[in-house]
Parts: sequence; structure tokens; C-alpha cells
Amino acid sequence: MCNKIRKRFAATICCASLVLHAVCLTASARDTAKIALTFDDGPSKANTAKILDVLEVNGAKATFFVIGRNVAENAQLLRRAVSLGCEIGNHTFDHLKLTELSDETIRQQLKKTDDAVFRAVGIRPKLVRAPCGRCSCAVRAAIDRPIILWCVDPRDWSYAHAAAGTKAENREKVIRAATENVQDGDIILLHDIYAFTAECCETIVPKLKEKGFELVTVSELMQYRGIGLKSGETYRCAR
Ligand SMILES: [Zn+2]
Repeated sequence: MCNKIRKRFAATICCASLVLHAVCLTASARDTAKIALTFDDGPSKANTAKILDVLEVNGAKATFFVIGRNVAENAQLLRRAVSLGCEIGNHTFDHLKLTELSDETIRQQLKKTDDAVFRAVGIRPKLVRAPCGRCSCAVRAAIDRPIILWCVDPRDWSYAHAAAGTKAENREKVIRAATENVQDGDIILLHDIYAFTAECCETIVPKLKEKGFELVTVSELMQYRGIGLKSGETYRCAR
């Protein structure tokens, strides 16, 4: 074999092995059990920052469904979230009950939030979460994007203001709910406005990783599971 042919042959083998390697990586990424942590109602200066610290240390991602009126003063936090690979979703501008609003007001609530997020990070949210998950046929028809709900609610919102004496017990309850009996494709609801939730996340995130879950954004979770999202449809998990 002359040198020229030998070099070309070696290059072909090398390319083939690179392609094979890439295919294996993609398959293994797809096969890992995945969960999407979602955080609502922020951003909040102190608590979102703590949650981002935990995500960063653990190489994890999450989706933040932000309230538009909180965005401008926390633009730096959102930029950090995006730089860590997190996703920003739209949780309306004022967190009103959408079932009591006109189509026009619902659209304004979403647009004002889109604009605030775009000014902060240069991206328009692709996903919407209705405040408190309240949806109706009319609400779904007024929303021009997929509506993401959840299948696991550890109820951090109900314990966040509980008496100090029961805090450790409540923390255990939230951690257990977020890490036990969870499965591939789950979407977990949490709130990044509470110091209590940020504390719980210091255990929840590493514990889920320890159990073999990869923490990804909602869009990634759906993509990995081959679920094509449609406008006005609601999704509780990726199964
Ligand atoms: Zn909310």
C-alpha cells in the first residue's frame, strides 16, 4: 500500500470510529433516566442564586418559569441560569388566575413576560406554565405555546412558611417527595422564591444524581423522549 493510500485508509477508519463514538454517546445520553426540575415564581435575588449554585456544582440543569415583573431587577441571575444551560419559561407577568382573564389579557400577560425575558437574556420563552396550573379550554386556546404542568409536587410552597420547630421535618418531607418514587420522564414542581426550597435543593439535586437521574430542562426532556410539543396542549411528564 503506497503512503497516500495508507493515509487515506487511516483517515477513513478514524472518521468511522469518531462517528461510531458519537452515535454511542447519543444513545447513552438518551438511555440515562432523566428528570426535569422546574422552579416557579422567581427569579428571587437570594434564593434563585443559591439554587443556581447547587445546580452548577452538580452539573445539573433546570427550568425556571419566571414571573415577568420579577425579571428586570434579576436580569443578571437569568443570564447566569442560561449560561448554565437552564431554560427560562413564561409564568405570566403578574401571576393572576388565567381562568378569570380575557384572551386579550392572557396574551398581554405572556407578551409582557416574553419582552422582559428577551431584554434580560435575548431569548423568548418557548414554554408556558399557567399560575397554579389553572387551565381551561379557553385558557389553552389563548396560549400560543405548549403548557407545562407537573406530575410531582413536593409541596414546598405549603411548608415554606411553617413554624421553625417543624422545619427539619418539613424539609425531610419535601426531599422525600422529590427523590423517592420518582421516575424517568418526571417533571417536578418547586419554587425558587423560598429560602426553604433552596435549602431542600442542596439535598434534592445531589440525591437525584446519586440515584442515576440526569437533570435536564423540560425542552430537553421532551426532545429525548421524542415528544413533539404542541401549542395549547398541556404536558405533565415525558411519558
Ligand atoms: Zn406560580
